[in-house]
Amino acid sequence: MKKTYFLLAIAALGMNNVYGQKTIDQKVAELLSKMTLEEKVGQMVQYSGFEYATGPQQSNSAAVLEEIKKGKVGSMLNVTGVEETRAFQKLAQLSRLKIPLLFGQDVIHGYRTTFPVNLGQAASWDLGMIEKSERIAATEASAYGIHWTFAPMVDVARDPRWGRVMEGSGEDTYLGTQIGLARIKGFQGKGLGSLDAVMACAKHFAAYGAAVGGRDYNSVDMSLRQLNETYLPPFKAAAEAGVATFMNSFNDISGVPATANKYIQRELLKGKWNYKGFVVSDWGSIGEMIPHGYAKDAAEAAERAVLAGSDMDMESRVYMAELPKLVKEGKIDSKLVDDAAGRILAKKFEMGLFDDPYRFSDEKRQKEQTNNLENRKFGREFGSKSIVLLKNKGNILPLSKTVKTVALIGPFGKETVANHGFWSIAFKDDNQRIISQFDGIKSQLDKNSTLLYAKGCNVDDQDRSMFAEAVETARKADVVIMTLGEGSAMSGEAKSRSSIGFTGVQEDLLKEIAKTGKPIVLMINAGRPLIFNWAADNIPAIAYTWWLGTEAGNSIADVLFGTVNPGGKLPMSFPRTEGQIPVYYNHYNTGRPAKNSTERNYVSAYIDLDNDPKFPFGYGLSYTDFKYSDMVLSSADLKGNQALNISVTVSNTGKYDGEEVVQLYIRDLFGKVVRPVKELKGFQKIFIKKGESKKVDFKLTPDDLKFFDNDLNYDWEGGEFDIMVGTNSQDVQTKRINWTK
Ligand code: BGC
Repeated sequence: MKKTYFLLAIAALGMNNVYGQKTIDQKVAELLSKMTLEEKVGQMVQYSGFEYATGPQQSNSAAVLEEIKKGKVGSMLNVTGVEETRAFQKLAQLSRLKIPLLFGQDVIHGYRTTFPVNLGQAASWDLGMIEKSERIAATEASAYGIHWTFAPMVDVARDPRWGRVMEGSGEDTYLGTQIGLARIKGFQGKGLGSLDAVMACAKHFAAYGAAVGGRDYNSVDMSLRQLNETYLPPFKAAAEAGVATFMNSFNDISGVPATANKYIQRELLKGKWNYKGFVVSDWGSIGEMIPHGYAKDAAEAAERAVLAGSDMDMESRVYMAELPKLVKEGKIDSKLVDDAAGRILAKKFEMGLFDDPYRFSDEKRQKEQTNNLENRKFGREFGSKSIVLLKNKGNILPLSKTVKTVALIGPFGKETVANHGFWSIAFKDDNQRIISQFDGIKSQLDKNSTLLYAKGCNVDDQDRSMFAEAVETARKADVVIMTLGEGSAMSGEAKSRSSIGFTGVQEDLLKEIAKTGKPIVLMINAGRPLIFNWAADNIPAIAYTWWLGTEAGNSIADVLFGTVNPGGKLPMSFPRTEGQIPVYYNHYNTGRPAKNSTERNYVSAYIDLDNDPKFPFGYGLSYTDFKYSDMVLSSADLKGNQALNISVTVSNTGKYDGEEVVQLYIRDLFGKVVRPVKELKGFQKIFIKKGESKKVDFKLTPDDLKFFDNDLNYDWEGGEFDIMVGTNSQDVQTKRINWTK
């Protein structure tokens, strides 16, 4: 079967014997020379699979099928599964040149096996595991006929009101860059063309995470220096690492929509960064430039998007309608269309789709990747490594498996599907396989112990009628595990929240249960940092469990009972109130910095609130204790292009083996532009057995000291630097050095 397609495809394109020796550029040029303008523009068109399409798109379904047959569609999204992708690809094979379709899909935190939401993954600070999770996601998705994932999202985000923080790596540029690179490596595996690799997509280019007020899709207004320094580095690194595609973003940057932004797409991405992949618009973002107030009609939107380097139109439906006309009228140089279509075709060649358009749609592989137990095993471990222990007063945790009676209370205790998190394809049989918290805990408790459950309240209403039963349940227990937070669909795209506490009456429920005097362990389910001051101050043990995916219940139970010693660290600062947002660790000082977090007197502070966050960036506890000692620098006085070696000894002085994320920060004390009070420059996640110590080494070079000035020069300046090593962004040891040029 496969062989037949292979031969057909080759014969159809006249590639036999000839294309084998040619470079992809030559193949693309040759193919372009045979294509009509409409066929070229067709490559730049992406539609959504019908079952997911909404609004006017849906009524166009039949029309889309016809377009595919005419070679007027380059890519489909939301078509998933061997049978489905095959059916669409067959239509493309009826077209004149038989150019295969690319199938794209949001494979964001797993596919058939779901993993922690991305912010939770980031809390693991475990680049190896993050990469592996994407390797698994790519293996599963590619077996279902998917060629391309719209991930990783590498938007730096400092505002937890923005629901999409759940999809990123948090507030730090360095951490976000490392994680983005790990994800790309995982998705693209041994390289495009290998059967278990999917094309990755660095999104959303750019500065989507800086939307004013944390309101999704909102404007961004910032200096080019800030843009280059804080928001663009993960994208630049992704381009350099060979990410196959980019996606632009809905927001405008200082008045120019990213989709039509020549500066970021032409000058930087395709210019200075010399990027050879292609850029897909975000869903409808080309057409949205009309309501945005940037393009007066579809023709102008298409024109501006193409001029700025947006190669593929995701569901705006303006490229096919407008571009051929614009070229014929001489408003768009046909070379721009050749360039865009050529970039897309090049990826199809790299993926091997011209050799066999069906090569990813393979029933056998699909079957192997359905309910794959190895993948789930990994998901369980990854879930537990993403949990952040925020508090453990009196070492309540880990719990003994032989506690006589445990009560699980809260609206998430028996949830299954919610554990997938926001971005999930939610196949029905996957939903039936999810491990609830109740089931996870139950499976680990001793057979002579009892696990009680009470829902207590709903996720998001004012109904207190279940409180009494929950209190009764708590009274019967020796220990209460409360599971509270926000619903898993409350963080994600278009899920901005203006107040980010526990939703509904959950906090009131917690207070009622606390009155019983029973020891309480609180697990917080969320896709973003929440504000929970009362709980933080009054509940002895708190673990942040995000949304952990298919194996959620097992991962959580592993941590509760100490099979896994938690080692996650927060990838975002957790604010005390919404009024404190944005609060992030790497801010600048002012001329009136507060000496400490409580100083209020004519310093840059609020009169009614401490300056520091409730939990700082990089924070997270363990069941064991780590002590830092012997911080040693190779020199306190460096000149020019030397390297600075930094070492520190970390000792596990507690009762359990455990993992610690050792963090390295610097501060450049003076600069021609003000430098952040701290900047993460390195980290290492290490495992230390109880009673043992490890020496951890870091190295800095002048490259690590570089920053952008207001003329966008990227360089370092000699002077004094603080070098800091510690367990989180607040708790560090500091040594000052002098480093001259
Ligand atoms: C999102 C993208 C996503 C796309 C396709 C958009 O609304 O912003 O991140 O990849 O939809 O589903």
